[in-house]
Formats: sequence, C-alpha cells, structure tokens
Amino acid sequence: MRNFYMLDIDLSSGKSEKIDVTALFNRYIGGTGVATALLDEFAPETDAYDAAAPIIFAIGPLSSIVPVATKTVAMFKSPLTGNMGESHAGGRLAMAMCGAGYHVIRIRGKSEFPCVIEIDGNTVRFNSASSLRGMSALAVERILRDHYKSDYKRSIVRTGPAGERLSPIAAATVDSSRHFGRLGLGGVLGSKNVKALVVSGGNYWKIENPAFNAYYNKLYQAVVNSDQMKKYHDLGTPINVVPLSKINGLPTRNFSQGYFEGAEGISGEAFAEKHLSQQTACAHCQCGCIHMATLRESFDQEEHMYKTFKVSYDHELIFAWGSNLSIGNSEDVLRLLYYVEKQGWDAISMGVILAWSVEAFQRGYLTTAHTDGIVLNFGDAQTFLKVLERISNRHNEFYSDLEKGSVYCGEKYGGKDFAIAFGKNEAPGYMTGLHAYLGYGTGVRHSHLDSAGYSIDQKKINSTKTDSDWTKDMYKESVWRMALNSLVICLFARNIYTPEIVSEGLKIVGMEQFDNAALAKVARVIHAMKIRQKMNFGFRFSDLYLPARLEKAVTTSGHVTVEQFAEQVRVYQQLAEEDMKLLDSE
Ligand code: SF4
Repeated sequence: MRNFYMLDIDLSSGKSEKIDVTALFNRYIGGTGVATALLDEFAPETDAYDAAAPIIFAIGPLSSIVPVATKTVAMFKSPLTGNMGESHAGGRLAMAMCGAGYHVIRIRGKSEFPCVIEIDGNTVRFNSASSLRGMSALAVERILRDHYKSDYKRSIVRTGPAGERLSPIAAATVDSSRHFGRLGLGGVLGSKNVKALVVSGGNYWKIENPAFNAYYNKLYQAVVNSDQMKKYHDLGTPINVVPLSKINGLPTRNFSQGYFEGAEGISGEAFAEKHLSQQTACAHCQCGCIHMATLRESFDQEEHMYKTFKVSYDHELIFAWGSNLSIGNSEDVLRLLYYVEKQGWDAISMGVILAWSVEAFQRGYLTTAHTDGIVLNFGDAQTFLKVLERISNRHNEFYSDLEKGSVYCGEKYGGKDFAIAFGKNEAPGYMTGLHAYLGYGTGVRHSHLDSAGYSIDQKKINSTKTDSDWTKDMYKESVWRMALNSLVICLFARNIYTPEIVSEGLKIVGMEQFDNAALAKVARVIHAMKIRQKMNFGFRFSDLYLPARLEKAVTTSGHVTVEQFAEQVRVYQQLAEEDMKLLDSE
C-alpha cells in the first residue's frame, strides 16, 4: 500500500513539515477531492489575501504514471470572486511533485521578504527573490531555469508583475506555457510575497503490480489512436474557431453576437500556416496539444533588425484577444497575448474586461477623462496595447480598476448588464446557448470545463428532450468530472478514462476500495462538498443571473431568456441539494 504525503509550508515562520495524508487520499482519491477537504479547514470569512489563506496544490494517485494524468489542481480563496478558487495547470508540475515525494503542497503564512520557494525532495529553502521583483513571468522562468540546477525534472511556477500588484485576475504561470489561469492564484501568491516555486526531486516510487504494464499499454494505445486527441494534436483547440463562428457560438464584440466575420484570419489553420513553430506537451502526455507561434518584430526603430518571440495560442486565447475584441489578424492577437503573458494576467479575464471597456466607452459610461485621451474602438489592436501598458503602469484610477474584474468595473462605472461574467468570473469562449451559460453559472469553478454545457447546446438541436432533461445530463457530467479532477487527468482525455478504466487503475496502485459504485458515490460527495464550501464562502444559487446582454444575442441554440436560465438554475440546485444530504453521513 502506498502512502501519500503533504508538504506543509508556513511562510511566516519559515518552517515546513511532511505530513502523511494517506487517509485523505483513501477517502477522496486525490487532486480536487483532497484539496477540497483540506480547504474545508479554512475559515471562510478570511480575506483571500490574508496570510492565513492557504494555497493547496494537489495531484492524484495516478499522476505521472499513466498517460495524460498531467495536471495539478490549485485550490485557494479567489480574490476575484471572494469565493472558492480552483484552477488546473499542466506542464511538468505534477511530475516534479511526484519526484519530490509530495502529492500535496500547502502554503500558508506570508514571507517577510520576496521569495522563491525551492523544494528539492526533502529539502525546502526560502531564497530571496529581490532581484526578480517586477520581472515578467517569462523572464523569471529563464533566470530560474539557469539558476536552479537539478538532476531531476524540475517545474517552475511563478507570478508576473500583475501578481506583485495583487491583481485579482493575476495568473500563475507554469513552465513554458501552462497556467493556473483563472480566479487569481497569481494575486494570492503575490500577497504571500512568493515570486516563484521551483520543485524537483528523485523520490519516485516503483510500481510493483505486474498488471501495470498491460494497463499502461492499453491507455497509451487509446491515447495515440484517439481521433479526439489527434484533433487536439494537429490544429489544437483553435480548430473550433471557424466552425463555432458558423453556428453563432463564437463570442464577438463583447458577446454581442456569435458570428465573427473575421474568423478565417484567426482560425487554427491561419495560425498554423503563418506562425506555428512548435508543438509541445505536458510531461507524460502523448498528445501534445500545446501550439507555439513565433512572432517576429522589428527591433525598436532599427532597420533590418528583428527579434522573435514564442507565444502559445489556443481557442480561449483567440476568442478573448481576437473575435471578442473584433481583431481578425493573427499577428495582432499574438502581439497582445505576448504582453498578457509577460504581465501574468488571466488572458480570458483581461480580454473580456477590455471588451467591456470598449463597449462602456462607446455607450458613454466611460469618457476620455477616464482613459486620459484614449479613444476605445473594437478592432484597434494598437490602442489595446497602449491600454495594457497603462494598466501595468497604474496610469490612473481607471486603468488600475481594469485589472480588478469586469463586474467590479461595471458596478463602479456603469454597464454591469454587459459585463460578461458568471459568479464574477469572466465567461469563456463559447456562446452556444442556455447550457453553456448554465454551466458557467453553476459550475464549481464557473468554467466551461466544469460540465461542457457548450457541447450539450450543440447536441440538443433537433432533440425532443426538455431543457430540464439536459440539465440533469449536465449535472451528471459535472459530478463525474469530480472523479477525473481528483485523478487530475487532462480533460481532453475524458472519453478514455471511463469509470471502469479509472477503477482498474486505482486498483493497480492499491486503492481497491474505488470500484464503480464507490467511484460514483465519492464523485457525488466531492461535488456536494464543493457546493457546501462555496455556500460557506457566500455563494447562493439564487444570486446567479444572466447578464442582460446575453439575453439579446442569438446563440447556436437560439435566444436564451432570463426565465429559462433561472428555471434551469433551480433544477440544478435541486439536484445539488439532494446530493448534499450525502454529507450528513460523511
Ligand atoms: S492534451 Fe494538451 S493540455 Fe492535455 S496533457 Fe496533453 S499537452 Fe497537456
């Protein structure tokens, strides 16, 4: 039987401790299940930036030993929403945590000085990061990669200047181009005076079970022969840009319509033909969906002098910095993304906030007095770059406010009805209809990945099932994803990791208790725990609303009304409340 350990770090005292958390893994599998249970110990009224607020990184029992079990969960209180914050990232972090010998890293307290936390197997050091202050998320990685040598695979997690400014939409960047993008982890790291974590170690464990090789090979074959994974490998998620636009599902000009006339210019095909220079993968993934573009720019004012940059792109980034800002030129999108990457913002949130600001300007809620002379128009990439610079420099109160979220800005300046956020989290890149919006609202992370409502919207065309039937299907999917997120499988492989496959894998690593029935139950329990925890933080289903803008826009599955949305929230709430009764016997 394998043991699981948590590295518990207290930045205030500069101490750390190795704690056996095997019992938690035996109960909640790992990943999101264990992180949720650990976050339960935290007083919900505590501010997200209080030293007592924890950050919990967690991986699962199959992490780094089976294909595509590549992700790490980060759990924290979100400074953006004031509620539970959960974000997932790939890269090498799960592998490095495994190597270091920890399935959980919990960070509490606040460092007295800007620091890099160095975790090298059993050794933990708190090194000064003074020389890294103000540095971009990209530069920090290059410097730390050179500085921290290791015999083992290393992972580097860091914040950019946005995190240091405690922006509630600051991301934490992982290795070359992966992110804990959503809900403000970068700001929480900044509040603790943590510029970066460097994780490595050689405490790998040996799998003794002879059934492992056959199990591994079965999964390997499934991944490399899967059409779905091939699609992600070839053009990546940007393959969706043009088809989504054709079915009115691609958010355009602040979600005012789903069709973007310039979609071809920012399609997966256009990016591949003009810019693709590398396809890469998270550690232990055979798919490799990460697409890197090369951007070539003239070197300041020098003639015939150029510099080149690598920028990753995917569907979400293209929607947020392309169609939703009415930019149909792939180079402009990359230039903006490069700036966002250096600052370390959540690219979805920052793009959606900027789209809100353009509309607010055009409708007269904002004037040149706010923008200090800048005129905001959709499609104007040059001006957007200036706006980003001004936000970074905290040019004035208005620009500082822009990195606090669209709901914050909508409440302060007016225009909340077209601030496109659910639970205060800016919406992702699908406007396919009711179940996409319902998923963003009810999802525990307010993410399209909570339940894939966008996929239901496409399936329900020409179907005779009722909205409530589809909501029940969506609820079931969001519950099952708790099991996958506890293993912290990349959700691109969700069709490969069926309940039978998951049970078989857990049995091989000695967790026989999770047969199909037990898996289904623990997924419901974890989902219910999260809803309860969100409610402890102040979430109420009755507070969910559909931004008025979305009622006016036609989607893939037609118009969505406020009443339809509210009715399906009630259906979802009833299902969640039923499952919360399970917690009484826990
Ligand atoms: S499919 Fe993409 S995101 Fe998922 S593990 Fe592989 S490289 Fe990472």
